[in-house]
Amino acid sequence: RSSGQLAGLNSENGGVSDAKNLRVKLVLLGDSGVGKSCIVLRFVRGQFDPTSKVTVGASFLSQTIALQDSTTVKFEIWDTAGQERYAALAPLYYRGAAVAVVVYDITSPESFAKAQYWVKELQKHGNPDIVMALVGNKADLNEKREVPVQDGIDYAEKNGMFFIETSAKTADNINQLFEEIAKRLPRPASS
Ligand code: GDP
Repeated sequence: RSSGQLAGLNSENGGVSDAKNLRVKLVLLGDSGVGKSCIVLRFVRGQFDPTSKVTVGASFLSQTIALQDSTTVKFEIWDTAGQERYAALAPLYYRGAAVAVVVYDITSPESFAKAQYWVKELQKHGNPDIVMALVGNKADLNEKREVPVQDGIDYAEKNGMFFIETSAKTADNINQLFEEIAKRLPRPASS
């Protein structure tokens, strides 16, 4: 790994959250194959590269974005590389997470059902003020769509989540996803 975006290497805020510079743990959850790794790589490296996948253990990447009010948010992004299938490990993974991004594939109703399972898990065991986003990925495959947009909208609204459809392949709405999450984060009081 030579990326300067690996954890710790771009610690422009010294690794601490303050009122201007937030640092948050973000976890991705969802069925295997929905595009979690591709979303992260698109966001962090600006690439769509389905081959550069971590296969063992969890991978960890970070990316900082600047908001219009001159504050920054550093996302520490945890991608499980499939470990979330072991239900017993899941709480270790999302403990302490300020943000959970629950991903499904718009061509797969099974993955939408699995996303709902993860939302319930997070409601039971996650940090109570976790910011949750529901993401319908592979929006470029609209001709194969099996989950109506409205189903995502309705489910997200009922569960107090932010909803967006993305394509890691075309980059559609990937930056918007993280910007919208950043706007919804609770801010520590200024000192
Ligand atoms: P993960 O198991 O959830 O991390 O899924 P991956 O990121 O490994 O992606 C699984 C497969 O879906 C790969 O073959 C990707 O090429 C494909 N994929 C991921 N995102 C998209 C997308 O937005 N559109 C399309 N068409 N394919 C995608």
